[in-house]
Amino acid sequence: MNKPLGLYVHIPFCVRKCLYCDFCSYAGQTQSVRERYVKALSEQMEFYAGRERPQVDTVFFGGGTPTCLEPNQLALLLEKIRTCFALSGDAEVTFECNPGTADEKAFATLRRAGFNRVSLGAQSFEAEELSAIGRIHTAPEIDRAVQGARAAGFERISLDLMFGLPGQTKASFSRTLERALVLDVGHLSVYALQLEPGTPLYDRASRYVFPDEDEVADLYETACRTLGEAGYIHYEISNFARPGQACRHNLKYWNCDPYLGLGVSAHSYIGGRRFYFGDGLASFLDGDRPERTEVELTPAMEKRDYLMLRLRLDRGVCEREYTERFGEPFPPAFVAAAGRLAASGWVGTDPTPGARRVFLPEKSFFVSNRILSELLGDEKTE
Ligand code: SF4
Repeated sequence: MNKPLGLYVHIPFCVRKCLYCDFCSYAGQTQSVRERYVKALSEQMEFYAGRERPQVDTVFFGGGTPTCLEPNQLALLLEKIRTCFALSGDAEVTFECNPGTADEKAFATLRRAGFNRVSLGAQSFEAEELSAIGRIHTAPEIDRAVQGARAAGFERISLDLMFGLPGQTKASFSRTLERALVLDVGHLSVYALQLEPGTPLYDRASRYVFPDEDEVADLYETACRTLGEAGYIHYEISNFARPGQACRHNLKYWNCDPYLGLGVSAHSYIGGRRFYFGDGLASFLDGDRPERTEVELTPAMEKRDYLMLRLRLDRGVCEREYTERFGEPFPPAFVAAAGRLAASGWVGTDPTPGARRVFLPEKSFFVSNRILSELLGDEKTE
């Protein structure tokens, strides 16, 4: 594959662990640990770029909370990327930010350094909900972060929101959506809370009242309707964007385009190979070439991954592109399952000769796991 890479950089630090979080992030690390991490990351960049200086057209600093590093540390890492990789002039360069961790000055430094997109973990604008899930920030801090980013020159701002939170109702979620709309950002990601075993929220779940399954479905439907009416395109199951504001980096994951992930727990997909690094911070800090785990991918797995990821997108999967990639038409069982599901309206098809397309209509997004299982032959259909 000669396509430019997406580069993901994992920053595994947070001020405090949120109660639902099972991401690879560590709270309370010292300045010295953060400095060593920046150094280890820089060495990893040199190693993986090699002499070839691969072309990169999207960069995404995720976490954790990248803004737990000093703005000048993030700027240094971006400069290192420019040295090691051939970064396109029009590259999308995103950093994730907890609204409680950056002020206008920090945004200005990052904008000057070349970051051009910010993804803010807002989650909710309701004080009780933010407190129930252990977020460190308040709703006014979300407003200030958006204003600060905008004042610093960021034209591409995304907010993450969550539904299914303890105590959340349709009314409270609608208020959150309305507050987000007032901020008029170009992109919104809307995720369902996952109660992960081992997290404090999972252990304390009995203390809270969570929306039930039907209510959660209703919250998702509320987001789809509200954001659709406000002009956002629902371009992926959990993502909404104004025209031209879709996240180019994340599109690489769903399009099965190549990406390189650096830092603890980061995943990569290059040349048909998937690999990832472990999430041990100590071993990452100690070694200049952290051990990586290769994922064995058979051709059947590759095709399945491709169909599954593409079908997360509103435009779905196109047979011409599938054939260009795999040298064969859609699998007959997939076509048959798509036909069955299309008859009941759960799958959309576009029969244009030479460019047959299968996609999930918006009403199927919430039950996409079930539909994808049927399409990909994971379960028997009635
Ligand atoms: S800010 Fe994000 S990564 Fe950090 S603890 Fe909270 S959910 Fe986890």
